[in-house]
Amino acid sequence: MIIVRTVSDLRTALRERRDTPVGLVPTMGALHEGHLTLVRAARAENRTVVMSIFVNPTQFDEQADLAAYPRTEDRDAALAAEAGVDIVFAPDAAEMYPTGFATTVRIAGPVTETLEGAQRGRAHFDGVATIVTKLLLAALPDAAYFGAKDAQQVAVLQRLVADLDLPVRLVVCPTSRDADGLARSSRNARLTADERARALAIPRALQAVTDAAAAGLADVEALRARGLAELAGEGIDLEYLALVDPATFEPAAALDRPVLVAVAARVGRTRLIDNTVISAHAVGPGPLSQEGA
Ligand code: AMP
Repeated sequence: MIIVRTVSDLRTALRERRDTPVGLVPTMGALHEGHLTLVRAARAENRTVVMSIFVNPTQFDEQADLAAYPRTEDRDAALAAEAGVDIVFAPDAAEMYPTGFATTVRIAGPVTETLEGAQRGRAHFDGVATIVTKLLLAALPDAAYFGAKDAQQVAVLQRLVADLDLPVRLVVCPTSRDADGLARSSRNARLTADERARALAIPRALQAVTDAAAAGLADVEALRARGLAELAGEGIDLEYLALVDPATFEPAAALDRPVLVAVAARVGRTRLIDNTVISAHAVGPGPLSQEGA
């Protein structure tokens, strides 16, 4: 495995591998098993796997969150090598945003303006769309791998790729969870034992909504109420629990098609997000029925 730090070195390293499929796994580092499931999916489908590690400052709405974001590059490099990454692209901020940088990629509509877009501000998805566009153009991968855990990010990027005719296949990998059901996240490292126990109300709420839909409850507000009941009194600070269209993020009116149930909450100082997809006819097992992968 090699580590490159400039777009130019990345392109040079990829030039001789161009005739075979290239997969890109964008990350902000602090790797955990969730990231490695993306690498394994990329490894299975490509000859060359590139992982980018870049804590993108423009997508952080809170300076404190950016400052506290874990940076563990040596450990990340070891984990990436072990998982079969061929090239780590780890630029610094000046490489991605040199002096004079003035371009923003902005996707309009509820997909960027609601939920995460409303809580974190418009700049969040502007930052995500701009950096992912740059990473895709730097690596020109055949496929890029993202986690379903960041469902709104996935919807934004699918819009981006469709609208700009970007020649890349987006692959969405299922949310990887710990054995207790908590979605894996680099931010989980900040939870105390007590906060972690309280955070389990989040997958429990998603499971309660899934179970209610499976039992035939089809009213969107009633389903939401089931989730809210699970979160109440757990000492967590709910930002939203919403049932939306998984592609447009418009509010779901009925369970006549798949509906995304998305949650964001703060537990102590840590902000966590999670989601699951339900539908009246093909209800998945829910987050707590899955093996902790
Ligand atoms: P991050 O480093 O948090 O920006 O995440 C990099 C990629 O890993 C994104 O596509 C995330 O959606 C994905 N990811 C993060 N956590 C998980 C998880 N628990 N399961 C699956 N994918 C994940």
